[in-house]
Amino acid sequence: MQALPVNVNVPVPVDESPVREPDRDLDRDRDRDRDPRWPLLSSLALSRFGVRSFRPGQRELLAAVLAGRDALGILPTGGGKSLTYQLPSLVLGGPVVVVSPLIALMKDQCDHLDEADIDAAELDSTLTASEERDTEREIRAGEHPLIYVTPERLRTDACLRMLRARGVKLLAIDEAHCVSAWGHDFRPAYMAIAKAAEALGRPPILALTATATSETAADIVRALGLRAPLVVRTSVVRPNLAFHVERTVNEMAKRVALLRLFDDEPGPGIVYTATVKKADELYRWTAASRLPVARYHGRMSAADRERSRAHFMDGTVRVMIATKAFGMGIDKPDTRFVVHYQVPDSIESYAQEAGRAGRDGRSARCVLLYRLEDKSVQTFFIARKYATRGEIAKVVGAAGRAGGAGGADLRGIALETGVSVKRVDAILGCLARLGTGAAGVDACGAIATEYERRRTRDAERLAAMLHYAQSTQCRRVAVAEYFGEAGSARCGRCDACGAAQAGGRLSLSKRAEAGPEG
Ligand code: ADP
Ligand code: MG
Repeated sequence: MQALPVNVNVPVPVDESPVREPDRDLDRDRDRDRDPRWPLLSSLALSRFGVRSFRPGQRELLAAVLAGRDALGILPTGGGKSLTYQLPSLVLGGPVVVVSPLIALMKDQCDHLDEADIDAAELDSTLTASEERDTEREIRAGEHPLIYVTPERLRTDACLRMLRARGVKLLAIDEAHCVSAWGHDFRPAYMAIAKAAEALGRPPILALTATATSETAADIVRALGLRAPLVVRTSVVRPNLAFHVERTVNEMAKRVALLRLFDDEPGPGIVYTATVKKADELYRWTAASRLPVARYHGRMSAADRERSRAHFMDGTVRVMIATKAFGMGIDKPDTRFVVHYQVPDSIESYAQEAGRAGRDGRSARCVLLYRLEDKSVQTFFIARKYATRGEIAKVVGAAGRAGGAGGADLRGIALETGVSVKRVDAILGCLARLGTGAAGVDACGAIATEYERRRTRDAERLAAMLHYAQSTQCRRVAVAEYFGEAGSARCGRCDACGAAQAGGRLSLSKRAEAGPEG
């Protein structure tokens, strides 16, 4: 796959520049300076959002939005992606539609928007019939400058008709990596967005994501049908984060390392495990040691998860022990450390999760407790992740009888075939991508091949993660290079830089320890 050229590579500055300060004579800023709405936008940033200076990448994306140009913003978690569509909603003279994958994320944003005095609407499955009627009436009356929808809702005709009548000025796609088969949280409904955009009269599209390799970025551009987009990428690794890999020979060594960290670092932190079982085990062990911990994973009830989250956010407990379910939308800026107790599935996931530390800009630590054996957990997940050939055949058959991917009813097919709704949705997504020409055996083969490619790709991403764990290269340089950022300087604060400074001896012995795969 062809790498995507990045138009604007924004380095992480030491200081954020003030909002009103005109930029240097950069070509891309001329249009912006001519746009009469720019001063208004800057003053609204301050008056409504309390934003005094834009963060890296925000200016460029805002300028693209004002100019009506498609854009893809790759800004780290906490980098302020929301502002790039929330702020324009006040000046575009028509609604901004935001596609968001999680209802919790939408709710969270709408609460914040209340403070900015912006009346946002949410269209999702939690509305009662009468709430939905009210919201739709308000949208028709033009009362909402921002409208949040789930991708599932956006594909419905009723929703598209209503939005089209309002004249959507911007379609913002949050967590846009969900559209990419290479992204780490692929969401089939995201595949339908390009079509929805056409049905809306094709407003400009702003796609946003936190972590994307150039391959994922190219996939996003293609799948959303972005036209000559401005691609803005800021560094995924913030300079206040110190990355460490600690090689741990066994479970006991990990626990000792963890306790040492809890001791060293009195601030709030998150410990990520790869499995629910390990999260539970670690939670019981730490709680028994009277440490102020909470836990969070997908097998707890929604109420228990919410209680844990609230306790961590308000400081009742200091440490959260969680799986990756504790993820998108968590914003606790004073998080001082993020530990990975088991190796994650990719550098994408690692950067995203570790990036929850130190969003307040103060120094924070990201520690990976590494043991070669942990690799097997991830290998196991990859093996189970995709539908089998048998499942593909059943779903494709059922879809054929139902009149193709377009007309097929998800739940009906899931019931008929015994394949999970999620897998059916993914298979139908593939089927839709293949187009109408593909049928029966052909389609099964093509989808199986596609899945095989994804599996291979997943294995490669895991290999890159393991390589990171075993390498003696500066951690920041390693992550930056993985995401295609050139010319990142050694950080001078990670374990690898520390070892290099301590002299060649240590780094040599580390390399020897890395074993045959190192
Ligand atoms: P992302 O979606 O990129 O993870 P958010 O949009 O949720 O990040 O923003 C994270 C936090 O940063 C929010 O609390 C937001 O209000 C704040 N923020 C965004 N832009 C700025 C800015 N330019 N200056 C100060 N705070 C900002
Ligand atoms: Mg966000």
